Amino acid sequence: MKRKHSNIAIFVPHAGCPYRCAFCDQRAITSQQALPHAADVERICTQAMQEIPDTSETEIAFFGGSFTAIPQAYMCELLQAAQPFLKRCKGIRISTRPDCIHADVLHLLKEYGVTAIELGAQSMDDAVLSANDRGHTAADVYRASELIQMHGFELGLQVMIGLYKSTEETEQQTFRQVIAIHPDTVRLYPVVILKGTRLAELFLSGTYVPMPFDRIVDITADALLQCMAEGIRVIKCGLHASEAVAQDRVGGYYHPAFRELCEGRIYRRQMEMQMDGSRRYTFAVTPSHISKAVGHRRETIACFEKKGITVKIIGDEEVPAFRCKCIEKET
Ligand code: SF4
Repeated sequence: MKRKHSNIAIFVPHAGCPYRCAFCDQRAITSQQALPHAADVERICTQAMQEIPDTSETEIAFFGGSFTAIPQAYMCELLQAAQPFLKRCKGIRISTRPDCIHADVLHLLKEYGVTAIELGAQSMDDAVLSANDRGHTAADVYRASELIQMHGFELGLQVMIGLYKSTEETEQQTFRQVIAIHPDTVRLYPVVILKGTRLAELFLSGTYVPMPFDRIVDITADALLQCMAEGIRVIKCGLHASEAVAQDRVGGYYHPAFRELCEGRIYRRQMEMQMDGSRRYTFAVTPSHISKAVGHRRETIACFEKKGITVKIIGDEEVPAFRCKCIEKET
């Protein structure tokens, strides 16, 4: 049986960040105010090791800031505190900015057992990056990704969908370029507009008009399909549910079951492509995906019912994941 991956997440909210990006409030996203120190790392790891039955696929993850841009003494303090736990887990994962990657810091991370680096790419369109105060360009993402891959780390790219000044075209272009880089993993985050950010100001003044949620689901569904086709693992799709995010959200695309919505959209589109004006259809999907095909809260079935179309989903081991096959129809 495949062992389950897990992260022991240690948040370093905004540590090392040279700019405050227009959409970001890590204190709300991580529900954490203070920066951790060695004793916190030891406590969090000790507790997690007791709670996780098998830690062989577990990584100690420093998230929520620009890890490679924090002062070196503090970075080493955190990494050093994680060392005693490394024998029992897979490695260390960090997240950072594309313009804060250089060969020296990669050598240092290697020495401390870091195995995976996630870059906040967010967009591959320079105008979108600039409009959202990112302070780096798409060229930085290419350069940093290449260095990370050359040094033998697992590469992850985080992408935000629906940023200020983004369009369907810039999103499609972003995914084409992300796929060309071929990271090992991708995180897809539809934009959540958080209180106190510059994006919230732009939104509340009417300057930033987010794309309709339905389009965001379509764009993300396309991205999921492209990643799957290229063997790129999508390890997160939508922000994790947190009370702080729910409280601080003033707009944007927060949905606790966002991935299910996108997966449901993939199935709905496939069904639509096979429809020919009949009123009743039976589609076969791989048995473990019946609920995905039915849609979150039966969304897909209900959407067709509204058009007077009855859809029945059944399981068939022969049908590959994210495909569906029309096996019966009636006019
Ligand atoms: S998005 Fe990343 S780089 Fe920007 S402020 Fe947030 S943590 Fe820092």
